Amino acid sequence: MPTIRTVCAHDCPDMCSLLAQVEDGHITKIQGDPDQPFTAGFACGKVTRDMDLVYSPERLTTPLRRTGPKGSGQFELITWDDALDEIVARWKDIFAASGPLAVLGYAYSAHQGLMNRGLTNGLFHALGTSRLLGGTVCDSCAEAAWDATVGPIGGADPESVTESDLIIGWGSDLHATNVHLWAKIEQVRRQGVPLVVIDPRRTRSAAAADWYLPIRIGTDSALALGVMHILVRDGLADRAYLADHTLGFEQVERDILPRFSPDRVAEITGLPAADVERLAAMYGAARTPFIRIGFGMSRFTHGGQNLRTVALLPGVTGAYGRYGGGAMLATAASFDLNYNAVRKPSGPAATRTINHLKLGEALLDATDPPIRALFIAANNPAVTNPNTAKIRAGLAREDLFTVVHDPFMTATARFADIVLPATTYLETEDFYRSYGTYYMQYGQRVVAPVGQAWSNLRLTQTLAARMGLTDPVFSMSQPEILKELFRDAGLAVDPATLLDGTPVSIATKTGQRFRTPSGRLEFYSQALADQGLPPLPDWQPDPADATAYPLRLLTTPGYFQSHTAFSGVAFLREREGVPFAVLHPTDAATRGLSDGQVVRLANDRGQVSLRLRVRDEVQPGVVLVPGQRPDEEAEAGTVNMLCADGYTDMGAGATYQSTWLEVTAA
Ligand code: SF4
Repeated sequence: MPTIRTVCAHDCPDMCSLLAQVEDGHITKIQGDPDQPFTAGFACGKVTRDMDLVYSPERLTTPLRRTGPKGSGQFELITWDDALDEIVARWKDIFAASGPLAVLGYAYSAHQGLMNRGLTNGLFHALGTSRLLGGTVCDSCAEAAWDATVGPIGGADPESVTESDLIIGWGSDLHATNVHLWAKIEQVRRQGVPLVVIDPRRTRSAAAADWYLPIRIGTDSALALGVMHILVRDGLADRAYLADHTLGFEQVERDILPRFSPDRVAEITGLPAADVERLAAMYGAARTPFIRIGFGMSRFTHGGQNLRTVALLPGVTGAYGRYGGGAMLATAASFDLNYNAVRKPSGPAATRTINHLKLGEALLDATDPPIRALFIAANNPAVTNPNTAKIRAGLAREDLFTVVHDPFMTATARFADIVLPATTYLETEDFYRSYGTYYMQYGQRVVAPVGQAWSNLRLTQTLAARMGLTDPVFSMSQPEILKELFRDAGLAVDPATLLDGTPVSIATKTGQRFRTPSGRLEFYSQALADQGLPPLPDWQPDPADATAYPLRLLTTPGYFQSHTAFSGVAFLREREGVPFAVLHPTDAATRGLSDGQVVRLANDRGQVSLRLRVRDEVQPGVVLVPGQRPDEEAEAGTVNMLCADGYTDMGAGATYQSTWLEVTAA
């Protein structure tokens, strides 16, 4: 029975190396690769069931053309040739009448392969159409904050936790979203290294930690500044490191830290002052403390400042200078590849970009020219974007020609004129670099495409040819494209050596390097000052605190539905259970609500009905909704209908956690 080594392409920091067993052309088993040290022989419970994803009875297997009203899900079967003829004819008509900017290419992260994902963007770059300003629903704020502080470079190697003497999971539910780092942490905990979890929700990681700090949403920067205040007060700051490797700490010490006494930090964060003191003492005593920073702490109005301040903490004690210490948000920025070979083969240097968050606004209001055609791959904005009602109103425009390429009939696909069946990653070949480790790996195709499904790469290359594009990358094989990704790149790796699927790490056993303009860790950021943003770390209340609604929304990944990409697998839907909201017992009692009943979550933007769970895993004043579940799985609606499409302070990101609402009986 052949075993094929491939790579998990789901949007997950671990980027597991997988071994898939195939019998008579069918996948029979998927397991983690024991020869990749981070994967260490196991895959998560979602992906060991990815046979169910590939062979789901809900898979799309043939192209479809809409026959009913937009959103109704009424389609007829058509051939690939008919579908491609229609798409190309419509695009050419629109190009001729309104110019290329009237078409919007919209591809995002459900397939992490650099070719399948990147070349779809490359198609629209070469065509000169409007393009997606991607990542803003996810990581753009966190990355902008990290870049302004540490620079565009990866953080501490997660494999370095074997050398850590204190581990802090700060706003990251590692047990759910970074399970292989969790396994490494469990190993070092057995040697006596403590794990501290700081999180507004008592997650599974928090419940299993040595110490859990239930912080209020959006107050992480205040806690980090409180810890810095105590470190300075108690003589625990590393003055030599600060002098040699950082910029602007003296201003923070003089102008900011005096305002963050333990008592004030306690008021802001909801944590006892004694716990702030204890955390600072632990942190100051540790030589190699490792902080895993979660992206969620950036998804509110002041999210960039919040995350940036936490990222500065290891500079105060010099932990960034020691292997095993420091902080890790992501690693992708350290892979110096020639991404433009795939993403920008030709086309205008500048074009109209549409922020992910503003898709609804763009579809409804854009002029000069209006958007007349939309192509979506590997994304489900009708569920995952904030202000969902506006997105759906835009998608419902009868004069908008929409094509969706997806393995499943998603909420977004139901609005399409043409739906094209996409392969899953197990039916494609691609090259991957992790964003949560320092591994890269070539992934083989495991089985032939199901039905008439096409990969993103095949569709992109076919559309490029039919649109008359002649860039060589649109006719290259995957090994040829791999060569281009390494051409003139900063990584000294021969791409030919990667083709056998061996995982390769680019990690170095050194302290943190900084790629800021000063080459130092920037407590003072001139780049932020130039954007009119506070150049020093600080904490401010969320302006949305003034809302009339009493409860604050907290959204997190579902354990078995971490992305809508998993919603086509019945087993995983059942494991996750019906979509639900969690309220603290005090808030439930105040409202006369009880566990198990259907409740309505509502604010000025919309209302959603979900099953209620009454648990003290959240704090009073918070409503937790895990997972972004499609309407048909819930009692009514989807949670992002409640969220605004406003921007964070940095990176024009989404402010999901700046959402206030009320909960009542449905
Ligand atoms: S842990 Fe992440 S990378 Fe690994 S198999 Fe699961 S989803 Fe894929």
